[in-house]
Amino acid sequence: MDSADTLRLLTSQMSFEVDGEPSPSSPTPGCFSSKERDQAFVHPAQLPNGQRIMLLKTLLSSVCERDCFYCPFRSGRDFRRATFKPDEFASLFAKLSAAKMAEGMFLSSGVAGGGARTQDQILATAEILRKKHQYRGYIHLKIMPGAEKAQVYRAMQLADRVSINLEAPNTERLAKLAPHKIFLEELLEPLKWVEEFRSTVPAYKFWKGRAPSTVTQFVAGGSDESDLELLTTTNWLNKNISLKRAYFSAFNPIPGTPFEDKPPTDPMREHRLYQASFLLRDYGFDLEDLPFTSQSNLPLQVDPKQAWAQTNLRDRPVEINKAEKRELLRVPGIGLRGAEAILSARKLRRLRDLSALRKLGVVAERAAPYLLFDGRRIATQMELISR
Ligand code: SF4
Repeated sequence: MDSADTLRLLTSQMSFEVDGEPSPSSPTPGCFSSKERDQAFVHPAQLPNGQRIMLLKTLLSSVCERDCFYCPFRSGRDFRRATFKPDEFASLFAKLSAAKMAEGMFLSSGVAGGGARTQDQILATAEILRKKHQYRGYIHLKIMPGAEKAQVYRAMQLADRVSINLEAPNTERLAKLAPHKIFLEELLEPLKWVEEFRSTVPAYKFWKGRAPSTVTQFVAGGSDESDLELLTTTNWLNKNISLKRAYFSAFNPIPGTPFEDKPPTDPMREHRLYQASFLLRDYGFDLEDLPFTSQSNLPLQVDPKQAWAQTNLRDRPVEINKAEKRELLRVPGIGLRGAEAILSARKLRRLRDLSALRKLGVVAERAAPYLLFDGRRIATQMELISR
């Protein structure tokens, strides 16, 4: 197998890892067709700062000595494995970057020879890219379970983003999913180290003078955990680890694993978890504001913000010309940008109708049942029809 074949194999095996926002409308870089791009397994992704890049997501090795129940790379599973040497992969990626086929890289790996040794290989790859190939683009590095504190620091000096996947919300749930991963010592502790370095090390010591962002990923439905458990841990991470984002990956059974007969998780659950996590992170919601069922899950059929508004705002609508930002953010249809736009527009004029809101980027029909315009409710077309 040559390097390109190895890359195709490893990137094709990496589809379950998430970074950025999939962005189907991202432009194709000048000289490559979408077919050529797909052959290289480079995918459009939108970074948190809004920048759109072509991201190569790959593994340094699909060999793994661990046996997580849900994972396609678990030891003993029969499939074709491959491994890159750090300099081999760095050279290949440098060529892809020079050809503008990849503008960023997300590098993970199976664990071989222990977490620290595997982390060394990942760090060596990033070092070669940054130093020998003078690569200055986006790098997202995975922190391996079992990595050492000094390795976490080095990763933060090389990368724009680091991630440590918790997979499950707590020790008990992780034991059902990955019996040889240790939740507190191997996963949560390194996340705390990242935060410790972020708050104690001068920014100039990090890559481009900025501490990297931190993300984690959960396998939603993999350990029969509840949404409340997932969101409690996410909320704690938001407040204590400055987590940029929690990713939720709906469990899907993989043939040849102990979970091959476990039913897949409804993708709508993943969607509701994302909605709820954004409410916690950006909209001032607390866990108790979320509409958990008696089984501590979010209802699948209703948007959690809509459910909150239905209970709390239907009879106490928000005055659009007076409300503070935190009140506006509670209204369905008003997002972060919409709330800012309303505050700016109000300095110039009073908002009198839904068309004024539409111009500000608000989903006016969704917001209308929960708003007053100078003491007046405005019925929407849909509301009039349903009366
Ligand atoms: S350690 Fe990572 S790659 Fe290995 S089996 Fe577990 S989840 Fe899969």
